[in-house]
Amino acid sequence: MKTQLLTGHDIAAAAAVLRDGGLLGIPTETVYGLGADGLNAQAVRRIFEAKGRPQDNPLILHIPEAGWLERYCRNIPPEAYMLAERFWPGPLTMILQRKVNVPNIVTCGLDTVGVRCPNHPVTLEIIRAARVPVAAPSGNLSGRPSPTCAAHMLEDMEGRIEAIVDGGPCGVGVESTIIDLTASVPRLLRPGGLPLEALREVLGEVAVDKAVLAPLAAGEKPRAPGMKYRHYAPKAPVTVVTGESRRTARYIRRHLGEHTGVICFDEFAGDFPGCVVEAIGSAGDKAEQARRVFDALRAFDETDVDAIYAQCPGDGGLGLAVANRLKKAAGFQVVDTGEAAT
Ligand code: AMP
Ligand code: MG
Repeated sequence: MKTQLLTGHDIAAAAAVLRDGGLLGIPTETVYGLGADGLNAQAVRRIFEAKGRPQDNPLILHIPEAGWLERYCRNIPPEAYMLAERFWPGPLTMILQRKVNVPNIVTCGLDTVGVRCPNHPVTLEIIRAARVPVAAPSGNLSGRPSPTCAAHMLEDMEGRIEAIVDGGPCGVGVESTIIDLTASVPRLLRPGGLPLEALREVLGEVAVDKAVLAPLAAGEKPRAPGMKYRHYAPKAPVTVVTGESRRTARYIRRHLGEHTGVICFDEFAGDFPGCVVEAIGSAGDKAEQARRVFDALRAFDETDVDAIYAQCPGDGGLGLAVANRLKKAAGFQVVDTGEAAT
């Protein structure tokens, strides 16, 4: 199969790919997604095949407005509309009870479904033109870092899908925040492009699932199926170093080998001579770190590094999402140098 590269002017062609049961790379503000008609079980099955995605890791339904929620969800609590009003279109996925018209393959048999309205004008137009909800996970091969530009998605998906729409680089750079609204207390299942603090402003109490911060114990059942898989991982093993940034830089300097890769804040980019260094933004600029973290993880696979160390932001704001992606890439191999980062 030849994968076609489309642009934001090819709305009709992109919508036709979806309507014909094809697979379409879609730009969003978070990361590129691998989309199919979310009501067409056969088309959705092909997403799992193209990614090599485990059959028990469900997809998110992408809709163009909150008005579509009733089509696919039932018992929708008022909080869902409050959140949609405030944060949609945007990097927030809500877990709600699903209606029976949502194919089992989308939810992997769960009676809940993840729904989001992405903040990208091209993709919103494509969904409206196709007149179907778009089921999509991130557009990487399973286990690889998520793609934040069309070229990275092409790297993973060339020859496997019908087309990719190039909508430019992603403005947020990490996936959506996932909030489960079916529990008695809303529960954060995945930190992402919308900070936890923003959710708490609207919802009050929000529980944080423990899989966000630590690995699951053997045999423990995850709340969100995606939580149990190793993710975002470059080929070389990653060690995340937490703590105040001068201390983490010092720790990493003391542990450098012959072929070490380092993910660091811009201020420390000159501190690791002889290493492959990926700077991801200044220590205080978490939005920039979110935009660049996946590209940094991806870049090491072009090099001969055999170990990677990463400085890690503190948990405030977008730091929770950046730290979570780094720790998942590291399989939660974390060294704490003490004295928390901000
Ligand atoms: P991705 O954005 O590639 O990580 O894929 C979608 C994410 O949404 C995965 O982490 C899924 O586990 C999560 N997800 C989708 N639907 C549900 C659901 N019904 N309940 C919990 N998590 C979900
Ligand atoms: Mg993914």
